[in-house]
Amino acid sequence: MWDAIVVGSGISGLTAAAALAKRGRRVLVLEQHTVAGGLTQTFRRQDWVFATGVHYLTDVGDKPGPAGSFGRLLRWLTDGELQFASCGDPYDIVRLPGFEFGIAHPQAAYRAALHERFADQHAAIERWFDDVAAARHAAFALMAARGMPEWLATGLRWWRGAELRQWAGRTLAQRLGEIDDARLRAVLGARWGDYGASPDVAPFVEHALVTGSYDHGAYYPVGGPARLAEALRTPVERAGGELRLGADVHEIVVEGGHARGVRVIRDGREHVERAAHVISTIGVGNTLARLDAALAPDWRAAAARLRPGLAMVVLYLGFEGDIAAAGASAANVWLYESDDIGAVWGAPADDDAPGLFVSFPSLKDPAHDGPSTAEVLAVCDARAFAPWLHAAPDEPRPEAYLALKAWIEHRLLAQFGRHFPALAPMVRLHELSTPVTQHSFVRTPEGATYGLEMSVERLASPALNVRTPVPGLLLAGQDVSGAGVEAASMSGLMAAAAIEPALLRQLQGR
Ligand SMILES: Cc1cc2nc3c(=O)[nH]c(=O)nc-3n(C[C@H](O)[C@H](O)[C@H](O)COP(=O)(O)OP(=O)(O)OC[C@H]3O[C@@H](n4cnc5c(N)ncnc54)[C@H](O)[C@@H]3O)c2cc1C
Repeated sequence: MWDAIVVGSGISGLTAAAALAKRGRRVLVLEQHTVAGGLTQTFRRQDWVFATGVHYLTDVGDKPGPAGSFGRLLRWLTDGELQFASCGDPYDIVRLPGFEFGIAHPQAAYRAALHERFADQHAAIERWFDDVAAARHAAFALMAARGMPEWLATGLRWWRGAELRQWAGRTLAQRLGEIDDARLRAVLGARWGDYGASPDVAPFVEHALVTGSYDHGAYYPVGGPARLAEALRTPVERAGGELRLGADVHEIVVEGGHARGVRVIRDGREHVERAAHVISTIGVGNTLARLDAALAPDWRAAAARLRPGLAMVVLYLGFEGDIAAAGASAANVWLYESDDIGAVWGAPADDDAPGLFVSFPSLKDPAHDGPSTAEVLAVCDARAFAPWLHAAPDEPRPEAYLALKAWIEHRLLAQFGRHFPALAPMVRLHELSTPVTQHSFVRTPEGATYGLEMSVERLASPALNVRTPVPGLLLAGQDVSGAGVEAASMSGLMAAAAIEPALLRQLQGR
């Protein structure tokens, strides 16, 4: 009998487990994959090491107040085990045909650079940042409500109802539509790939929340993103808990209407693990699929109205030589083939990607000691991969899939080479991942990069609260909080605080 079982060892699961462990609770973390960390895991090909779902992090700098709040939480959970290096300035570069703009921090520097570049857009720029501040204020309330008991969340929604409705119902495209200058619109809207919903779908509050978090600077874990799981499992084990890999949870056991444990398959054998609380971090759809179909019909109906978000293909590049001398830097490059920054790659096989996100992680990590790498991401419509999305992870991939993958890899490599001609001859290794890959390794439905589609409907959905209609079953992860390592981690902390209210102090310290 464990104090709690956490399903999934991503950042949300390990945050929940470590936080409970800090309060002396024995927690069992079950992970279906053979590697811990979910989307924070890394992988190696020969001498090159690649990150899967971490290119830069927010709020982990050594700063007072909210600007350093996530870093303080991680240091508290891991007894100071984790360190982060600044990605410098600019940390993001927006590149359009014949135009480039570097985004610096703090916000005042970013703002000043916008005023200098768009001298006749003073009022529009000021209005944008005023709206970002107001939308972020609303977004924090919306997110906090997800972690509250229903009576408290209802009170909060009533108290701040008009404000929340005003912001939560507006898309990014609607807000960008108020700006006359096409290039300014492109710069301000370019980074929607950070949460994976195109401007016509994305709520403006999510854009404000995510891009605004980088106003305090962008950071990378020293030693690479795998350090997150390595450091967070220690407090769990120290408190008598365990992280079990290759442990596939296929049922959440409910007895007398209360979640009492899980059925898990490991090494081909099924057994039951029991606990007073179960925290599921595997997404709302995957969680419901592991519950008796007759349970919680309203929850099920509300979740059925939400759909998976967009997906990505990622080209992993291994280089030989000095890529910094050839023009690479710690800054991410948001590259668009036209000023239309909202286009989604509908037919990955036939066209060039309308946009690429290029990251050079080896230049961000001061502890990196191998050859250099790049990760080239392109948002795409997962429907291009639909025939293979439900294949079992260990099933051999069919020829048609392998051929499509090879063709996309070839095209992306050529597109990268056109934009980075000095780096292209230095490429010694390339490999592509697709939505099928993500589905195989972490089981995200439809291989959607950030889980559920980030839409106006999602913000209002009652299906994504930490406390579920099944007593004893709590939900955490990016479906609850929205995309990003910090947001997912906060959802894990909220779930842990629902079990151990003393942890609310860590939330309030933010
Ligand atoms: C390509 C890409 C780039 C990204 N870049 C950034 C970035 O630069 N900065 C940033 O902050 N965020 C980034 N993100 C987002 C960020 O990585 C995620 O939002 C966050 O890591 C999600 O954490 P999670 O715990 O919710 O889910 P996950 O990390 O997906 O963890 C869920 C875990 O549950 C396990 N699981 C699933 N089903 C079962 C089962 N039945 N039994 C047991 N275990 C199960 C999975 O294997 C997985 O390990 C990126 C994501 C992607 C995909």
